[in-house]
Amino acid sequence: WARHDRRGPELFDPGRAAEERRRHRLAAEMPAALDRGEFVLHYQPLVRLADGVTIGVEALARWNRPGAPGPQQFIQVAERTGLIHRLGRALLEQACREGAARSGDLLISVNLSPVQLADPGLVATVADILHRTGLPAARLQLEITETAEALPYRAALIALGDLGVRLALDDFGTGYSSLAVLTGLPFTEAKLAAEFLAGAGHGGVLRHIVEACHAMGMTVTAEGIETAEQEQILRDLGCDHGQGYHLGRPAPL
Ligand code: C2E
Ligand code: CA
Ligand code: CA
Repeated sequence: WARHDRRGPELFDPGRAAEERRRHRLAAEMPAALDRGEFVLHYQPLVRLADGVTIGVEALARWNRPGAPGPQQFIQVAERTGLIHRLGRALLEQACREGAARSGDLLISVNLSPVQLADPGLVATVADILHRTGLPAARLQLEITETAEALPYRAALIALGDLGVRLALDDFGTGYSSLAVLTGLPFTEAKLAAEFLAGAGHGGVLRHIVEACHAMGMTVTAEGIETAEQEQILRDLGCDHGQGYHLGRPAPL
């Protein structure tokens, strides 16, 4: 952020300056908030579309404080300050502990920042958390957003797969990777970005994407299902799983 003063005109944009001050304030407040346990997880159902059974939940971070920003903002701040390593570990451990306390084979799906993938200690950390919480590796899914930053960490992704955890390619289709990049990576699930649903009524392209994912050995989750009609269309297109306000909102486990 300090480098922005060389960029000239932006310095005189009052909206931008206010935004920068807000980010700095968030960055300063977050470590103590983490120590106080203010970051918690809500869980949103992952539903098998064929029969409506909830097969898992996605853990979504919340800052439990009145007026606090949403995860998109505070995760980005944590990525910039490096706090994401400690915050990410704490959230993963919380998700695994809460998941292990639930009987049955409910899948616990946790978001991983590309910044965490760059941490050479990540694989050992995940193994250690699984060991301490007692969650079987097969019940943990890690969601990795399809970005240019994440996919170069092939060795880390393969080592995570070797632990026996499931890997989901998040926001698939937002435009960064070619299918070629994915070959040899142990992704077991593709999560189709909600944007895809806008055109789902005209099925053509979406059907081919679902087929391509299946051919590559991935099951498919459609995100952002908000209506019964969308649910039906996606089931007919062969999507395996669904997630969205129509199927269940994020809530404490
Ligand atoms: P995401 O991983 O794509 O998570 C799905 C987002 O879509 C969630 O927003 C969820 O509440 C929202 N959503 C679910 N169903 C619907 C629907 O039917 N309609 C609409 N419009 N939205 C729906 P949320 O919880 O605000 O999280 C935003 C993003 O923040 C996440 O996107 C993820 O990228 C990031 N995030 C959240 N928690 C974590 C975390 O623990 N670690 C990391 N690294 N990132 C996280
Ligand atoms: Ca996700
Ligand atoms: Ca997503």
